Amino acid sequence: MTGHCNIRSLNPKRQLARRSVAILVLGFWWTRGDALAPSVSEARGWVQRTWVVMGTYLTVRVSHEDPAHAERVLDDVIGLVQDLDRRFTLYDPSSELWALNRHAGGPPVPVSEPLWDVLERAIAYSQETAGAFDVTVGPIVQLWGFLEGPRRIPSDEAIAQARARVGYTQIEMNPSHRTVRLATPGMVLDLGGIAKGYALDRAVERLRQAGFHHGFLNFGGDIYAMGASDGVDQPWTVVVRHPRRPDQTWRELRVRDMAVSTSGDYERFFVARGRRYSHILSPWTGRPVEADVVSVTVVTPSATEADALSTAFFVMGPERARTLVGSDRCRYVLWIRQQGNRLFEDSRSVWPPRSCPGTAVR
Ligand code: ADP
Ligand code: MG
Repeated sequence: MTGHCNIRSLNPKRQLARRSVAILVLGFWWTRGDALAPSVSEARGWVQRTWVVMGTYLTVRVSHEDPAHAERVLDDVIGLVQDLDRRFTLYDPSSELWALNRHAGGPPVPVSEPLWDVLERAIAYSQETAGAFDVTVGPIVQLWGFLEGPRRIPSDEAIAQARARVGYTQIEMNPSHRTVRLATPGMVLDLGGIAKGYALDRAVERLRQAGFHHGFLNFGGDIYAMGASDGVDQPWTVVVRHPRRPDQTWRELRVRDMAVSTSGDYERFFVARGRRYSHILSPWTGRPVEADVVSVTVVTPSATEADALSTAFFVMGPERARTLVGSDRCRYVLWIRQQGNRLFEDSRSVWPPRSCPGTAVR
């Protein structure tokens, strides 16, 4: 669970080995008393599979009544996520996102339904967070070496030049033709702050369509807890790790039909001149976020939202983000801050999460 200043290559496979998973799960399968266990849970089994996709691990576990059917549906789910990966990746010049980026400053480009959909959502979160979340951060992500390395501190001039190519208002969406135009030459869209969450929501949607309502999905630390952990009525237990001691639990939370996403300064970073530079960049300054916030965990019924907002809130800090959360909107947030060696929870946290009425899909 370390990031190092000497990582030269950030290709997804190497990243995998070094990434930590911010959150891990303990699924409590058993019911409280065997004698009282409802028969429906005894009839059910569980199937679990793990794949490598989007440069990390995706583990899906579902409760089923027919293992063969469950296996087929899981094949379908991974096919769907692999398809999104192929479209959204910046690690493959033949991806749909690359094609769009290549046309920056040029004509509108027709895009697929998922790329359109994820961009629409990304722009909505940009608007809501006053640009703290911004998928046009690509030029500054590249400049600091977070895409392909080497990681480095760029000059002020280079930062200013890259920032001139950043700004979500430069994404022109034309719904009648489903085309997207990147208005400024040299723009680079980077979906790293939203793609996993979006893929989780699509996966959950597919599982529900196939009749699965209880399961657990862990996508490199972005979590979706579907239904009940015993297939009946017990919530899932998600462990939020200690940001500095990965083998220790910071908190446990019990959730159902909720997504959990953490953004922190310890996922990918480098240290130079005695300072820690994280892979979450402020679109306002063109620099890694500098704050005493160590991690922000967001819990909402939408994984897209949890992913985007955890990134956005890391940029905004608790004071600016406080109006965007609350149990009335079913958005929960846990801020962990550091002063000296002391870690503590910020009082502006809205925590612990409560169950929300209805089940949001995406
Ligand atoms: P992780 O991928 O570790 O779960 P995040 O969800 O916080 O972490 O996403 C971080 C990634 O999002 C970065 O690697 C980069 O690709 C992208 N990114 C960085 N800063 C921003 C930002 N301000 N807005 C949107 N995306 C960002
Ligand atoms: Mg995120």
